[in-house]
Amino acid sequence: MTTAGAVVVGGGIGGMSVAAELAAAGVERPVLLEAEPELARHTTGRSAASYIPGHGAPAMRSLVAASRDRFDALAVEAGHPFLRPRPVLHVATTADEERLLREEILPLGPVEELDAAEAVRRWPALRPDVVRAAGWVAEAQDADPIGLHQHYRRRFRAAGGTIRTGAPVVGMVSRGTGWRVSLPDDELDTGLVVLAAGAWTDRLLALAGAPPLDLQAYRRTIAIVRADVRPDDPFAVSVSDAWYAKPEGQYLLVSPSEETPQEPGDARADDLDVALALERVDAVTTLGLRSVVTSWAGQRTFAPDRTLVVGERAPGLAVVAGQGGSGIETAPAAAALAAAVLLGRSVPDDLRRHGVEAAAYHPDRLL
Ligand SMILES: Cc1cc2nc3c(=O)[nH]c(=O)nc-3n(C[C@H](O)[C@H](O)[C@H](O)COP(=O)(O)OP(=O)(O)OC[C@H]3O[C@@H](n4cnc5c(N)ncnc54)[C@H](O)[C@@H]3O)c2cc1C
Repeated sequence: MTTAGAVVVGGGIGGMSVAAELAAAGVERPVLLEAEPELARHTTGRSAASYIPGHGAPAMRSLVAASRDRFDALAVEAGHPFLRPRPVLHVATTADEERLLREEILPLGPVEELDAAEAVRRWPALRPDVVRAAGWVAEAQDADPIGLHQHYRRRFRAAGGTIRTGAPVVGMVSRGTGWRVSLPDDELDTGLVVLAAGAWTDRLLALAGAPPLDLQAYRRTIAIVRADVRPDDPFAVSVSDAWYAKPEGQYLLVSPSEETPQEPGDARADDLDVALALERVDAVTTLGLRSVVTSWAGQRTFAPDRTLVVGERAPGLAVVAGQGGSGIETAPAAAALAAAVLLGRSVPDDLRRHGVEAAAYHPDRLL
C-alpha cells in the first residue's frame, strides 16, 4: 500500500504534463501510472507534430495561443526548442473549398489570403491547374512531442514524482476523503485521482462508478513516403480536411485526414487509407509520390463539443481528456490550467489573457 498526494493515470502527453505541473505546484509524492511497459506509446507517439494557431474549436484555439509563450519558456528551461517554424498552407481546389476558406478559415485572424499563383510560389509542388485559392499561417510550427514529453518527465521526477509503467489501473473505490486505486499487484491511497488516459478515460470513469463524458476515439492514419520534397516546404492542408502533407526529413508525411470511429485500443494503419492519402496528395501536386517507407495510425479522442475536458467528475476524481487533434499544441497551457483547477487556484494570468476560463473546459458544460 502506497500513499500519494495525487495519482495521475495515463503516461501520454496529457498525463505527463499535468503530473509535472501538479508536482511543481507543491503536491507531495505524486505518482503517475501507465498501463503499457513504456510511456507515450499510444496517441502521443503517433501525431503529426504540428502547432497551428487558429486550429480547432474556439476554446481549443485559446489554449493553442496561450501555449506559445509557455513553449518558449520550456525551451529556455530545457536549453533547446520544442517548436520550429513551418508555415501552414491551406489549399482550396474546388468551389466548395474556396467558400469554406473564405467563410471559416480566413476569418480566423492568423490566416493570410493568397491567390493561386502565390500559393504555387510558396509550395512549388502544387499544381497550378488545380489550386483556386489558399491561406497562409506564418506562425505555425513543427513541434517536438517526444522532446516535450521527456522534458515534462524530467521536471516531474526532479519535483519528487514517481512513474510506474506496466501499471494498469484495474479498480478505484471512493473512501470518504479520497480514493483507493488498485493495480494488479498493489494499491494506492490518494486524495486526488486525475484520469488522463486518452481514449480510455471513459472506461476508467466507469471503473470508478462515475458518469462518462461520451468521449469518442477516431482513428487517423499517417504514411511516410519517398518524394522530391524541399525541407522548407510548408505544411500543406486541404481546406476540407481531405489530406495533408509536410516534409519529414528527406521524406513526405501524408494523411487522408480520416476520422474513423473506434473503440479505445492500439490503432493500426489501414492500407486503403494509406493509398487514399497518396492518391489525394498526388492529385494536387507534381511530387510523384513513390514508395511508402512506413505508416502508422493513432486515435484522436474528442468530447461531443470537441473541446478539452478539465475538472472533477466526482469529489477527488478529475479528468483531463478530449484533446482531440490538439494534445501537443495545447499541452503547455492545458497542463497549467488543469493544475490550477484541480488545486482550487485561479487560472494563471497569461492563460486568461488569451481568453482561457475554467468553466469552458469543465465537464459540467457537457450536461
Ligand atoms: C495521426 C495523428 C496526428 C496528430 N497530429 C497532431 C498535431 O499535429 N498536433 C497536436 O497538437 N496533436 C496532434 N494529434 C493529437 C495528439 O497526439 C493527442 O491529442 C495527444 O497525444 C493525446 O495525449 P493523451 O496523453 O491524452 O493520450 P495518449 O498518448 O493515448 O495517452 C493515454 C495513456 O493512457 C494509458 N492508459 C489507458 N488506460 C490505462 C489504465 N487503465 N491504467 C493506466 N494507464 C492507462 C494508455 O496506455 C496511454 O499511454 C494527432 C493525433 C493523431 C492520431
